[in-house]
Amino acid sequence: MSWPTLHKDPASFRVPPNLEAYETVRERFSWDDARAALDGLPDGAGLNIAHEAVDRHAAGPNADRTAIRWLAKDGRVRDVPFGELAALTARFANVLQGLGVEAGERVFLLLGRVPSLYIAALGAIKHRAVVSPMFSAFGPEPIRQRMEIGSGSVLVTSRRLYERKVAGIRDQLPSLKHVLIVDGADGLPPGTLDLEVLLDAASPDYRIGPTDPEDPALVHFTSGTTGKPKGAVHVHEAVVAHTITARFALDLHPDDTFWCTADPGWVTGTSYGMIAPLALGVTMIVDEAEYDTERWYSILEEQRVTVWYTAPTAIRMLMRAGDEPRVDRDLSALRFIASVGEPLNAPAVIWGQEAFGLPIHDNWWQTETGAIMIANFIATEIRPGSMGRPMPGIEIAIAHRTGDDEHPGVELVEEPDVEGELALRPGWPSMFRTYLDMPERYASCFRDGWYLTRDLARRDADGYLWFLGRADDVIQSAGHLIGPTEVESVLTAHEAVVEAGAIGVPDPVAGEVVKAFVTFYPGIEATDELLRELHGFARKRLGPAVAPREIVVAERLPKTRSGKIMRRLLKARELGLPEGDLSTLEAPYDATPPGAAGTSAPDAAGEGPS
Ligand code: ATP
Ligand code: MG
Repeated sequence: MSWPTLHKDPASFRVPPNLEAYETVRERFSWDDARAALDGLPDGAGLNIAHEAVDRHAAGPNADRTAIRWLAKDGRVRDVPFGELAALTARFANVLQGLGVEAGERVFLLLGRVPSLYIAALGAIKHRAVVSPMFSAFGPEPIRQRMEIGSGSVLVTSRRLYERKVAGIRDQLPSLKHVLIVDGADGLPPGTLDLEVLLDAASPDYRIGPTDPEDPALVHFTSGTTGKPKGAVHVHEAVVAHTITARFALDLHPDDTFWCTADPGWVTGTSYGMIAPLALGVTMIVDEAEYDTERWYSILEEQRVTVWYTAPTAIRMLMRAGDEPRVDRDLSALRFIASVGEPLNAPAVIWGQEAFGLPIHDNWWQTETGAIMIANFIATEIRPGSMGRPMPGIEIAIAHRTGDDEHPGVELVEEPDVEGELALRPGWPSMFRTYLDMPERYASCFRDGWYLTRDLARRDADGYLWFLGRADDVIQSAGHLIGPTEVESVLTAHEAVVEAGAIGVPDPVAGEVVKAFVTFYPGIEATDELLRELHGFARKRLGPAVAPREIVVAERLPKTRSGKIMRRLLKARELGLPEGDLSTLEAPYDATPPGAAGTSAPDAAGEGPS
């Protein structure tokens, strides 16, 4: 389905866009120039993310500017200026120093979105330790797995999280030397240290040691959408990409109030929910609470958020909640909205235009790429449903794998509109340097000088990229390769449907046929008539070979903690197959909740175009 292109009116830009002439900037772009915009450690001692994000600003006129505005669950607000953040992170670095933690050791974080999380992450990076933030909602097993793979030697957590999740597995974590409790004042579990006491006793001055831009700084585990999460290692030099992509793809300016809704347990919450805005001296909002429609609109309104970076799952929840919670709000401060993580279907892009007077700008990247690689930019037209175009500095190809395991090759597709795997030319600063414990898996990502993403896409004649699905989720039906996104974007274009997940199920004739799971807007009843209409709607737009043979209406779909539909779980449940690693599953999922309704497609005879 194609939707009208959204053109931009230059008169509507409230500040001059950072990226105005896309082609020219792309042509002239160099990573060396991007690097030159950073400060670097004093005396040529290298490049350290925490220096760029914190100390650099604390030393200048920005010292009193709010770095983090923290919104507590209970309504309290705490502003942490850059100067204070510099002192607090220095104290944390000194605490690690005092404990004998060395550069390169791994510091794991298990905390909600509280100030200590940001202080510990940036303080550990100052100390040249390697930081790995985990979702605080993880249970003991995902925590154990990650800390084991990462040989974590320090864990920063809260008393409650420690007692409930870590104490019972502590003896299975031989590498763990120190547990720092952020709220130990009212009692400390045995075998742990009171971080507040240590911070108070530590000096607020810390000189960052020489940091090679290639030194590891972060380990981020992937979302686990397609299988067991992989630990991607990122280095200090990544900050070059964080900052330039935030300037170009999020249009961040120094005066912005920026809200990235992602948790640092997901790479988005670190690259853009911590490093990029701070490195640009921007004030960022951190909300401790989970998604809540009223709360989110009131944050946008009361905090006068100017740039907002969120995810399709949240946008769909806001769409689902209707206009009423939004209409009386003053959201006039908002000037740019972006989304990442999953396909953003055209109706959601356009909903932004109706709800905020601003389209939603989809962008694409992965834990592995460390920063935004493909984006819709503020000053360029949007083709709704497209991920946009490559960032300056990023070379992208559509590739087909050739050869075999022993002689792996790729063939690049030059013609437009041909499906293939999205491939990136390695060499950008935030590219992952390895997968922990999976060197072979890492090596297998590269062929003929390209990094292969395992995402399928096509490029149109003007260079806009269209996501088709993950290679692992592709459905093979009667000689067609069907990307789930193709099916899902049609289903979600129907006015009853909020979300859709499409999978392939075995079929004796076609090999596989498409089965789709959908959720409806509140108050819409899954009558036989509506389901018949939905089948017809899909068939008319997709043709009978691609349209779902069966559609099930569910109350919700299984999702990862980063909000991605877990199609592999839908499929495993459907086929009674092993469910695999579910450590990132957001909530237990029952495939057939009470009230679920489903129908098979009416007989193909005479229906829809073919
Ligand atoms: P795993 O690798 O463990 O299966 P994951 O790939 O979901 O999990 P992330 O690195 O968090 O882990 O997500 C990156 C993936 O998310 C991309 O490879 C792509 O499949 C999907 N994605 C991200 N942004 C977009 C987007 N704008 N449109 C479509 N898909 C997107
Ligand atoms: Mg992935």
